[in-house]
Amino acid sequence: MNQPVYNFGAGPAMLPPAVLEQVQAELLDWHGRGISVMEMSHRGADYMQIIAEAEQDLRDLMNIPENYKVLFLQGGATLQFAMVPINLLRGHHKASYVQTGIWSEKALNEARRFAEVEVSASNADRQARLVPPQSEWQVSKDTAYVHIAGNETIGGVEFDFVPELGDIPLVSDASSHILSRPVDVSRFGLIYAGAQKNIGPAGLTLVIVREDLLGQAPANTPTMLDYAVQAKEGSMHNTPPTFAIYMAGLVFKWLKKTGGLQAMAERNARKAELLYQSIDGSAGFYTNPIEPRNRSWMNVPFTLKNANLDKVFLQEAELQHLLQLKGHRLLGGMRASIYNAMPETGVQALVDFMRDFARKHN
Ligand code: PMP
Repeated sequence: MNQPVYNFGAGPAMLPPAVLEQVQAELLDWHGRGISVMEMSHRGADYMQIIAEAEQDLRDLMNIPENYKVLFLQGGATLQFAMVPINLLRGHHKASYVQTGIWSEKALNEARRFAEVEVSASNADRQARLVPPQSEWQVSKDTAYVHIAGNETIGGVEFDFVPELGDIPLVSDASSHILSRPVDVSRFGLIYAGAQKNIGPAGLTLVIVREDLLGQAPANTPTMLDYAVQAKEGSMHNTPPTFAIYMAGLVFKWLKKTGGLQAMAERNARKAELLYQSIDGSAGFYTNPIEPRNRSWMNVPFTLKNANLDKVFLQEAELQHLLQLKGHRLLGGMRASIYNAMPETGVQALVDFMRDFARKHN
């Protein structure tokens, strides 16, 4: 392979090549043990070290306070749509949701199975183009928590502020922007994320939760769905997704080695700016409709003025080794996901291709 391949898929997404190379090197024989991580007992000393290091590296990267638990779970972010209300209602009836796109809507619809859902704010009347400012939100005092989707992977809408809610716990679905920049974990009651974008392979779900919110799930809660059980047993009530956790741990080490979240944020900001500038500077050939302050650093949806060119765009992009640019089936158009593992050279290659394509087809 001479020309590098750049994968703009929304998830499962590109992983850092250095991590994949390490996985390959260690695949058959981890650290001279003669077996693969896949074949290890999850309760053996080697694996206990792998998971403990993964947790510690994540704590270091995100500066996670002592009074927060880190859980390595399964079921995807989608299972969290249910686990959050099951565990965090804590005797309340009401839970509040801010609707900013398709994922927050899915979360609130699932929560309706367990709670009286209050939609505290919505951007649906503004074509999902922005995050409603907090001054618009209506949050009842007796609500159990407020849920947001910090970054809407499909719409490309990202929060540009951390809501201030006093004593009401803030819950964020951070699936598509976790680890993309520093965040003050202490402002949140709970953060969750499916792994397959910025963390590692699919099959692992990360939950970071403040300890005082645990232990109040209803008595008939399935054991596996009770955060308190998972916290008490170190995410090992049953066999955890061992290989995915191992790979996530390697991604955390890679992040530390490349400068941590501040350095990552600087790279991500440059990547996003380059791509949005090329869209905005295309004289309408390409369009992204999101309010500039809420434009996602991670997922950049855009449309071509002439939708008849969509197919050709994708075909020609693929010939240039620019993969998976097709937009979500619900929105159409294109979407470039530029997660942590996407190097600046990849975004430059995309921008160069887009400019040449526009010239050729204008
Ligand atoms: N929330 C967000 C913001 C997502 O992007 C996704 C997946 N694309 C999900 C939830 C669902 O994740 P999973 O497939 O891990 O259940």
